[in-house]
Amino acid sequence: MIQCQNGAETHEKAGVAISFDDHFINEWFALRPMFQKYNAKVTFFVTCPDSLTNDEVAKLKLLQSDGHEIGFHGTIHGKSTELIAAGPEKYKEIEITPGLSYMAKAGFKPTSYAHPGGDHNNRVDSVLLASGFKILRDVAISRRKIMGFQMYALAPRLMPWIYYSFDNEDIVDALLIDEDTGLTEPEMIEALEKAKSTNKALMLFGHEPLYSKPRNGEYGFNVPFLEKILKEADRQKLKFYTMSELPQTK
Ligand SMILES: [Zn+2]
Repeated sequence: MIQCQNGAETHEKAGVAISFDDHFINEWFALRPMFQKYNAKVTFFVTCPDSLTNDEVAKLKLLQSDGHEIGFHGTIHGKSTELIAAGPEKYKEIEITPGLSYMAKAGFKPTSYAHPGGDHNNRVDSVLLASGFKILRDVAISRRKIMGFQMYALAPRLMPWIYYSFDNEDIVDALLIDEDTGLTEPEMIEALEKAKSTNKALMLFGHEPLYSKPRNGEYGFNVPFLEKILKEADRQKLKFYTMSELPQTK
């Protein structure tokens, strides 16, 4: 049998890397059966780890033992470009070191970092990479409304920067899937198809799992919408990657 490698289309690495930010530990944990149903592995970026209760730590450990990744999202969820202005040592002392030691005490050693508020610059990035993080995740938004007016709209499949090319890149953008982005299921299906056809990993992220329209300052994604994404990824036989797996996959 002749093995034809050249020019053959390959989809073996095609996948999706989904992450969740902030401190919705109980709400994330409630999604566990859904993740199990689709064999999905995701990353939870935890902020303010000083307030982790024993119960939350136990839940995060269980999620980690399922194959999910526990990443770090800052000690105080501050504005890093302002904190770094006082120097890299001060920035680490306020935003990085205390939180990491709370995480370590709880038994976690995060290797991925999500920028609080999507705020960062080259100095911040170099401090974080020198601190041992393997991948830094920023925010990409496909729709932005200002004073209720839609200023721009890009279909996710036309946003090459939300796809991981397995080139060892350690500074990446993930597409926000929260309710207020107005993303639709057909757009997400097309975005997943693009990952499949280009053999890349689509990077997505959200905040609180919500079961109805956001109320009283809630910010998060619609759970049935996430389930559609997981179901479609499963149907297309896409791989689920945690964030630290991306730069490790050759
Ligand atoms: Zn955040």
